[in-house]
Amino acid sequence: MHKKRFGSLALISALVFLMVGCGQSKKNNDQIQVVSSLDFYGEAAEAVLGRYGQVTSIINSPSLDPHSYEPTTKDAKAVAQADVVIENGLGYDQWLAKVVAGSNSKTQKVIQINQLMNRTDGANEHLWYDLKTMPKLTRQLIKQFSQIDPTHKKVYQKNGQDYLAKLTQLQTQLDALKTQAKGQKVAVSEPVFNYALTAMGYQVANSHFAKAIEDGTDPSPQDIAQMQALIKKHQIAFLVVNKQEESPVIQQMHKLAKQEKVPVVQVTETLPAKQTYLTWMQQQFKAVRKAQNS
Ligand SMILES: [Zn+2]
Repeated sequence: MHKKRFGSLALISALVFLMVGCGQSKKNNDQIQVVSSLDFYGEAAEAVLGRYGQVTSIINSPSLDPHSYEPTTKDAKAVAQADVVIENGLGYDQWLAKVVAGSNSKTQKVIQINQLMNRTDGANEHLWYDLKTMPKLTRQLIKQFSQIDPTHKKVYQKNGQDYLAKLTQLQTQLDALKTQAKGQKVAVSEPVFNYALTAMGYQVANSHFAKAIEDGTDPSPQDIAQMQALIKKHQIAFLVVNKQEESPVIQQMHKLAKQEKVPVVQVTETLPAKQTYLTWMQQQFKAVRKAQNS
């Protein structure tokens, strides 16, 4: 859900003021400092850097909501010292963009995932569910770190290639799912998983309902009736539910799907505890496989 996507302006201004007060901070050491809004992007940076840098991921727990996050002074300090900042973009982590604008560094590099992926305003912001995103980010990070620290270019290339090699499993897994999707319809509680669904060859049949949930508004009676019909008439292969956002209306749909023996695939918006991007995606793709086989 994206109810409170823009953090409090006053707070951010206060943070910026604080940082200006600190002046241009000297780095603690020579290692590359990275700040990422989301932990799975930070994971790619960690993989490429190995022991030649430090990564601070601000959303680093499933209990933090990226949409309504309000940056702390600690976050602002980390941003002020960062050589590289990774933002999702498309308004998803606007709070970080504001802190970056306030830090006013001339040398800092900002990687915006939406620009990297050529996605402009209005595009679905859950860009990490597009399997091309993480490889593209990894390659960009190899380039960026090698420019900042040419001495370790070979290390960054090797680390990056190792990480990219692991990620290729996901495309293989997705391709296998694609052979069974055959353009079937699915319904979703909100558009979190949509890039993956589309790549698998599914058609989201309830976009209007999902958009309402995403915007934090009530789906219309027509939206609800349409979705109930999709489930009752078994017109969808499965229902995708973001289990971090189960409002009463979603719970109703979830229950109806169970009654009607329509498979339910559970996904999350943020990286679950003790998972990596790879294991997280694998688990969700496995859930799709299970739905296909039921
Ligand atoms: Zn979302």
